[in-house]
Formats: sequence, C-alpha cells, structure tokens
Amino acid sequence: MGYLLCKLCGGYYELMQGEKPEDFLNCQCHGELEYYPELNASE
Ligand SMILES: [Zn+2]
Repeated sequence: MGYLLCKLCGGYYELMQGEKPEDFLNCQCHGELEYYPELNASE
C-alpha cells in the first residue's frame, strides 16, 4: 500500500486496500501530501 505524509502538519495516512495516492491530493489542513511506498523511520 503506502503512506501519505503531509508536508504542512506532519500528519500521515496509511492507504487502505483499494485506495490510491491520487485520491488524496490534499490533507485536511489543505497541506500538500507526499506519497511514500513505505514509511521509513529515521533510525
Ligand atoms: Zn496536514
């Protein structure tokens, strides 16, 4: 699936099965969402 990270508020959403990144162009805060195939924690 993948994740969408908001550049503005820092929130992230995990895409559910059947959902596409294109369906979520903007966050609820109207920030720009960026798609990541995996959520890589900076460890
Ligand atoms: Zn946001």
